Amino acid sequence: MIEITNVHKQFNNRTVLNGINLHAETGNVVTLIGPSGTGKTTLLRCINLLEEPDQGTIEIDGVRVQIPIKNKNDILTLRRKTAMVFQQYNLFRNQTVLQNVVQPQVLVKRTNKQVAKQRAETFLQEVGMQDYQKYYPSQLSGGQQQRVSIARALALDPKVILFDEPTSALDPELSREVLNAIHKVADLGITIVLATHEMQFAEEISNQVVFMENGNVVEDGTPAEIFHHPANERTARFLENYR
Ligand code: ATP
Repeated sequence: MIEITNVHKQFNNRTVLNGINLHAETGNVVTLIGPSGTGKTTLLRCINLLEEPDQGTIEIDGVRVQIPIKNKNDILTLRRKTAMVFQQYNLFRNQTVLQNVVQPQVLVKRTNKQVAKQRAETFLQEVGMQDYQKYYPSQLSGGQQQRVSIARALALDPKVILFDEPTSALDPELSREVLNAIHKVADLGITIVLATHEMQFAEEISNQVVFMENGNVVEDGTPAEIFHHPANERTARFLENYR
């Protein structure tokens, strides 16, 4: 479960998050949509405390961190509940696919190398990349690299995976491969929070859609509500541009 309460964030005296409240049940796939610069990425980075909010509370799976953070160990405890998948894959170029999935487990979770290798093989299989273990990232398509970064995230055994525009660098066919991999993650019951500009993708993948504008949550509902019966006129206006 994720519970975000009254999260504020400013950059250079400019408010980017203006009191965000967000509740997501375990296993939900939550997409964040909204205009560019509206704070979606910042919110994702605040959820795992890569960015420290100015105010508010973040709770994931029973670990609750209130700002200001009193105990710095809480940051690590909360971060270990999460994994993040970026738009640009962020794989280590000088490591093979297998090493890319093994290494973070050893470094972050202190997993035994043999166990980490077995887990890596399991999750590479999960995303259909088991035959590419010895490849280097430069030998893979963007969609394949993104699937490896999803396997890497899964191998860390997170409660929540945060995806920042995971398909925006990909053409439609490769997006489809990644979409299928994200479906697999959802089937494993891991809570997903995902920022995207692709409305069709958001409608297909999520069961909770959050429309943000100017650092505020304007509307939060099911895909059917948000995409077909938006209650707020600003949501409707934003979605008009995607028809
Ligand atoms: P997009 O859809 O284009 O990715 P977004 O909704 O994800 O946008 P953010 O990336 O969260 O928006 O950015 C929100 C605002 O915060 C932007 O105006 C951005 O310039 C600003 N911002 C983000 N990170 C920083 C930073 N580290 N320092 C200063 N300003 C920042």
